[in-house]
Amino acid sequence: MTFQPNSPHARDVRYHLHPYTNLKAHEEQGPLIIERGEGVYVFDDSGKRYLEGLAGLWCTGLGFSEERLAKAAYEQMRKLPYAHSFAHRSHPAVIDLAEKLISLAPDSISKVFFTNSGSEANDTQVKIVRYYNNVRGRPEKKKIIARKGSYHGITLASASLTGLAYAHKFFDLPLDGFLHTEAPHPYHGAEPGESEEDYASRLAQMLDDMIVAEGPDTVAAFIAEPVMGAGGVMPPPATYFEKIQAVLKKHDVLFIADEVICGFGRTGNMFACETYGLKPDMLTVAKQLSSGYLPIAGAMVSDEIYQVLKEGSAEAGTFGTGYTYTGHPVSAAVALETLNIYQERDIVGHVRAVMGRFQERLMALGEHPLVGEARGVGLIGAVELVEDKAGKRNFDAARKIGARAAQLCQEEGVLLRPLANDTVAACPPLIIEPAQVEELFDGFTRGLDRLA
Ligand code: PLP
Repeated sequence: MTFQPNSPHARDVRYHLHPYTNLKAHEEQGPLIIERGEGVYVFDDSGKRYLEGLAGLWCTGLGFSEERLAKAAYEQMRKLPYAHSFAHRSHPAVIDLAEKLISLAPDSISKVFFTNSGSEANDTQVKIVRYYNNVRGRPEKKKIIARKGSYHGITLASASLTGLAYAHKFFDLPLDGFLHTEAPHPYHGAEPGESEEDYASRLAQMLDDMIVAEGPDTVAAFIAEPVMGAGGVMPPPATYFEKIQAVLKKHDVLFIADEVICGFGRTGNMFACETYGLKPDMLTVAKQLSSGYLPIAGAMVSDEIYQVLKEGSAEAGTFGTGYTYTGHPVSAAVALETLNIYQERDIVGHVRAVMGRFQERLMALGEHPLVGEARGVGLIGAVELVEDKAGKRNFDAARKIGARAAQLCQEEGVLLRPLANDTVAACPPLIIEPAQVEELFDGFTRGLDRLA
């Protein structure tokens, strides 16, 4: 495609190195330029309106025009635009946010360390795991097990946790000491006739076998998203986490729950830990923490871990990690206001009120001739496209059928996200209204029909 000289499209192609983009294809097709947002909608530079069916990147829980968040940012900027938390310094916004987060988090969690992104938060979790075992005199216990298909970020450590080939290829990743076990994907992974419970037992046994083969004294932690997001939206099969947690306990392996997508109402509870009975030692939050309005994330830990970090920092002279923007006051003020709004408007109650219809329409897509499986929970879901429904055979990857489906849905006014293995995901703002759920799935259906 040729773009008007000096048009935003031409300048984007000329100057902007895009994240997670096929750079060669980008020069050909150029960007979709989003100019403004309103409620659950965004508008491109031609004025065309789209329902943002993925809440940006799974993050804008309160949609795109929440005045209270803009006001919180403005007021904090005028009062104190910057302050840090190094060496005993603090400020009211970060104190209030930390207290609020801990009050909402699962009981096992007692402290939060702030970062700017989910990647940095998981990177910090890796550092904390190392620190913890070094201070406890167990320097051999360092390996971390994540799951194939998982997404935990893109720093060198968090990309090593991520179990997706595209995050490793040409980057010399994963680093040593990061392992990946099978994640649940019953549609392809369960044996014919195998029950969810038996499948879960088999996966837990695989994890147990991996820990034993590596040597339990060398395995420090296991990390999982309660519902795998970017890897294809995989809710866990019944009893999965119960069995996984028993294995971790047996081998004294820490459990890191990555709630970067699931946290703050997405699955119909404040945290998916509640939805699935998780008792993590460490918890990672980001995205909907500030409804995506400003970058902020948290690496949260249990009191038992904190006590060990405290001892180590006394010996080392400091807990030697932190960012210039750790607990940035403006981000913290916006996150605090986000959490206040979630509570005042009972966002969990709202999700529960609309998620039934969301899942009903999602499951109805499962009947589509090109859909092998529809899966989801709460206000998150996906369809996996297949060429042969009876044989559960995906399309040849070169056909990029998921990207094509998402493109057609975009033309139909709904933004969705193509994921690995021809999966197309929906994860709208939490504030979505019933009529907009219908609009989302009407557009999704029209897009798939055009593909057929
Ligand atoms: N963890 C999960 C589950 C995610 O989905 C993501 C991003 O999509 C991350 C971590 C990384 O977060 P960020 O992109 O803010 O670095």
